[in-house]
Amino acid sequence: MSTEDDFKPVRSKGWSFGLLSTEEFGEEEKELVLGVLDKKRVFRFYGSDKEQSEAYKLEKLYRERTGAKHALAVNAGTSALVAALIGAGIGPGDEVIVPAYTYIATAAAVLIARAVPVIVEVDDSLTMNPQSFEAAITPYTKAVIPVHMRGVPCRMDEIMETAERHGIIVIEDVAQANGGSYKGKPLGSIGRAGCFSFQQFKLITAGEGGMVVTNDDKLYGRSNIYHDSAFVYWDMNAEHLEPPFPGENYRMSELNAALALAQSQRIDAIVSKLRRIKTAITAGIGDLPQIRLQSIPDPQGDVSYSLVFYLPTYERARQFSGLLAREGIPNGTIDNKGFADRHIYKNWTYVLEKRGASEQDTPWNCRSYKGNVQYSPDMCPQTLDWLGRAVTIGLHQRMTEEDCDDVIKAIRKTAGA
Ligand SMILES: *Cc1c(COP(=O)(O)O)cnc(C)c1O
Repeated sequence: MSTEDDFKPVRSKGWSFGLLSTEEFGEEEKELVLGVLDKKRVFRFYGSDKEQSEAYKLEKLYRERTGAKHALAVNAGTSALVAALIGAGIGPGDEVIVPAYTYIATAAAVLIARAVPVIVEVDDSLTMNPQSFEAAITPYTKAVIPVHMRGVPCRMDEIMETAERHGIIVIEDVAQANGGSYKGKPLGSIGRAGCFSFQQFKLITAGEGGMVVTNDDKLYGRSNIYHDSAFVYWDMNAEHLEPPFPGENYRMSELNAALALAQSQRIDAIVSKLRRIKTAITAGIGDLPQIRLQSIPDPQGDVSYSLVFYLPTYERARQFSGLLAREGIPNGTIDNKGFADRHIYKNWTYVLEKRGASEQDTPWNCRSYKGNVQYSPDMCPQTLDWLGRAVTIGLHQRMTEEDCDDVIKAIRKTAGA
């Protein structure tokens, strides 16, 4: 007979991990950031030797990491998406397909580029369902943004094949999957452009920051113009043939670039630790019939900071999550009543209500738009089903073998309860 007092959690020791990114701040970060102060060059286009700029060095690193011909450092992941979309010639009248599960910034970037987001289902990988993408194509579809959510690579073979068949531009949102790959190719290097974020919640951080990578000269030239309101004055366009047009100011500061540079040198080491941790845990729970592991389109390319599994119902997921917490394992559920998580399309109120900064002129009511996209909170039932039944455990590069064993034991005990 057991009573409440007999209850002994699998794990009684606490967990004291910080964020994946800032946990790694060390001497390299200090050295590079302080170096910027010593150089007295905080603006990337100051001074004559552009190769001494930290932003330039960061771009060089991302060209090397992705194999892309061009990289453009910007001030945020959202800015990277907007610059890439405008660089690709997306604008009024165009539809851009986005997944129902991504940060609202993906859809916002489409709207800022004056195009119309079309929302499609994710599957049990929690990334874009390639069939739903194909079914949503209209004569106005100009681009698609597959989002490698929670570090998991999208089903890029199917997405690329469909996009190529319909002449649709693919822009990868790599904000949550820096360091990931798909069938050996770095994420961000598969579509026409790839967009990264260095915001604090991402794998590595500069506080704020972003990057566009592409092989496309025209896309790069136009993104470059758009990211700098004073572009023509820095004479960077000399080597490109694109005529200037008004841009915003998305330039990256040298301080952010220095921090992003120090952090980016850590990516591969962090990811290889995370992969070992996730592989060990999934091997320890893969046989349990009570739970279903998230499907990963390419496990070797998973950044591996997120473990997701599904229970048969919404209620069972909450129950499992609560019991697991009692066993001392921090975990979460994704679609929670009462919390309007802006990663879930049904909470993108300004999109669903077709609201812009001005009511007179939005991407939906503008003269160029001939389509008729419709939104509703229940338009993606598969997405809501997967998200509602998901239990998540955040993994950390500092987890020890003992930590992994505790997670395995607690999941097994909870599944057996
Ligand atoms: C964080 C994030 C963005 C936006 O990046 P910011 O740097 O915050 O502008 C875009 N897409 C996804 C999937 C994200 O997670």
